[in-house]
Amino acid sequence: CTKIRLTGPIETTLCDYETVESVNEDLYSQLDTLVRTPFFKYFKVDLYRDCPFWQDNGFCMHRECGVTSVDESQVPEQWRAAALSQVRSKTDGHITQPGCYHRDADFCFLDDEEEGEFVDLTENPEGFTGYAGPSAHRVWNSIYEENCFGVSEASIAAIARSRYDQSPTTALQLEAQSSDDCVEKRVYYKIISGLHASISTHICHLDLNRTTGQWGPNLQCFASRVASHPERLKYIYFNTVLLLRAVSQETKTNSLLKGVLDIANDAGAFDETALFRGDDAKVLKEEFKNHFRNVSRIMDCVGCDKCRLWGKVQVTGLAAALKILFEMDEKALDPRLNQNLLTRSEVVALLNTLHRFSESLHVTEEFKRMWSESHDTA
Ligand code: FAD
Repeated sequence: CTKIRLTGPIETTLCDYETVESVNEDLYSQLDTLVRTPFFKYFKVDLYRDCPFWQDNGFCMHRECGVTSVDESQVPEQWRAAALSQVRSKTDGHITQPGCYHRDADFCFLDDEEEGEFVDLTENPEGFTGYAGPSAHRVWNSIYEENCFGVSEASIAAIARSRYDQSPTTALQLEAQSSDDCVEKRVYYKIISGLHASISTHICHLDLNRTTGQWGPNLQCFASRVASHPERLKYIYFNTVLLLRAVSQETKTNSLLKGVLDIANDAGAFDETALFRGDDAKVLKEEFKNHFRNVSRIMDCVGCDKCRLWGKVQVTGLAAALKILFEMDEKALDPRLNQNLLTRSEVVALLNTLHRFSESLHVTEEFKRMWSESHDTA
């Protein structure tokens, strides 16, 4: 690839991935510093809302599933609940569920800023927790089932019924029969599968060796969950490109973000104009938004606090990227005209999510080296 600034179609090409690969080490080191600063490390989150879809979400009892919250007095005053409620009135929002809300432009439900607790994300790193089995699978199944576009109302009702009957297979069969394989559907799948692959990469990179009690990278885990499915790795790149593009559109004046923004401007080649174009554009966009909002509510069904925390961070970050790319025109993106474009939580989530994906690509290189070394010595 000779081009650095790419503006290719939505079906991101190999060239786009090579561009990201070439800037990722620089991007990762800048992001890794950024997310340790007080602004980006404190995230306010409500981890104790009930699952709105089913009751028995099998709580994980492993020590690694726990999250340590911080006392609000440790958090700089301007970001505390009292200060936030003074500057942000909820008159522009629609509180549609207890403890969370969304506005028209949002792709996710946001936690009520006055609820929940501050968490220091650097003290609760994403990695192996032991959360697995039917509870985790039910959550992933439900997220993939949201990938259902342009189906008739009867099919939607049938899918919803089968979901509550806990029969994902029926739901998937119905969905396969009744919907078109449109570009929006493929993009939704790539985002979710990329998120899933990135989470798996972190689990495999910060894994607990149950024989030695040591934490470290587990090549076999990465090979079976990610590397043996090349499209999953491709979707991690896809998400990175999507996030970079959104970050490049965000306010260009913040010097703290300058290094990251320069890279995002060079490598964020996601052509969002290819989505939501045809006659059904408006309906499809609303559907896409609703699916994503449902994914954010499904996060309350994750039965492990640390997984729930990082699930919420990343779904909020991806939703913020989608909002920037698909809801905002030049005027809305002007920070002087629209100072409340994103909440603090959305900005923190956006940059931390980009850090998660960039770290997945960074550790993939480490896994590649481990693979070569193990084959050289074999
Ligand atoms: P799973 O990862 O549960 O996958 C289930 C099935 O989905 C697989 O058998 C495969 O057919 C398919 N699949 C897998 N990956 C993909 C992909 N990328 N694209 C498409 N299909 C795929 N566990 C932790 O230890 N730490 C965490 O931080 C953590 N966070 C989580 C966050 C969320 C939101 C959820 C739902 C779960 C989380 N988990 C976490 C659990 C973890 O993701 C796995 O579910 C668990 O490790 C069991 O893995 P598994 O091998 O059974 O397959």
